[in-house]
Amino acid sequence: MDLKSKIRVVPDFPKPGISFKDITTLLKDREAYVYTIDSLVAFCKDKGAELIVGPEARGFVLGAPVAYALKVGFVPVRKPGKLPAETVRYEYGLEYGSDVLEIHKDAIQPGQKVVVVDDLLATGGTALAAVKLVEKIGGIVTGVAFVIELSYLNGRKTLEGYDVYSVITYD
Ligand code: AMP
Repeated sequence: MDLKSKIRVVPDFPKPGISFKDITTLLKDREAYVYTIDSLVAFCKDKGAELIVGPEARGFVLGAPVAYALKVGFVPVRKPGKLPAETVRYEYGLEYGSDVLEIHKDAIQPGQKVVVVDDLLATGGTALAAVKLVEKIGGIVTGVAFVIELSYLNGRKTLEGYDVYSVITYD
């Protein structure tokens, strides 16, 4: 499947110099969406995922169907102030800005095998934040999966030591 042809590339969004990879055009395409989720499911299954963690918001759209397919649970990682119960927080740098992410403190059982799923690996800051949050509350990260990897931003270096998978790569 030629997934790249399903992704809309928007230059200079949200600011000059960023080549934004818009996956909404992939998500609305039945075959491309199924192929993408199936690819992520295969990786997560191989990594023995007992729980899928997805960062807001595109990590929800991708991580939840992966969890459903594997018949495991899904845990959201969110921007500050969105999760209602007690949270753990982590601050990180983005390709365009910096941010804080949170997870519910009781979201993961100690020792549970977790795969983090998100749409895109840029610098890796967001994914690393999700990984660290999982580890802070006792989970074991067995893999990190993306639809898209921007290999020129070296996100794999940020995630060194973790098993990283991406469905497609932009060099
Ligand atoms: P990073 O933390 O630098 O790896 O950035 C990853 C997060 O920012 C992902 O969750 C993406 O949704 C978003 N992102 C960063 N760069 C881009 C881009 N060029 N196109 C689309 N989304 C991006």
